[in-house]
Amino acid sequence: MCLIRKCGRCGKVYNTEEYVALPKAPYEYGYARVCDCGYVFGIDTFHLDGTVEIKVEGRTARVNVYTFFREVVSGFDAKPMWYQTLLFPEEEYVECSFSREYETVEEAVEGHREIVEKLRTRQYKLIPCRWSLIVST
Ligand SMILES: [Zn+2]
Repeated sequence: MCLIRKCGRCGKVYNTEEYVALPKAPYEYGYARVCDCGYVFGIDTFHLDGTVEIKVEGRTARVNVYTFFREVVSGFDAKPMWYQTLLFPEEEYVECSFSREYETVEEAVEGHREIVEKLRTRQYKLIPCRWSLIVST
């Protein structure tokens, strides 16, 4: 698999061989690679996050909306999607596999805003998806 990484500050693109040759900076129990411009991969990453409360059958559920710069994509993609939004419900009774990708930071910021607005204004569907199996004895 061919992966390419992109600096979130200067925009320089690295193939895997170039990326592993970058200098390392200590990070927690390991290290992170540092771009020539000083950007630290995995740490200086652009991201937006926020939490929206939604109603689920009378209960309040919190959903984290997280939009971020991916830093790494497949080198085979004709149009690399460098940004992504994911939703993370905090309550276990809400499942969500939502994912939306973007090519540019402008699209990502607008997409993030749009998703937060849709959640706040109840522009979503809730589909019951769990069943309890009870066998009478
Ligand atoms: Zn850079």
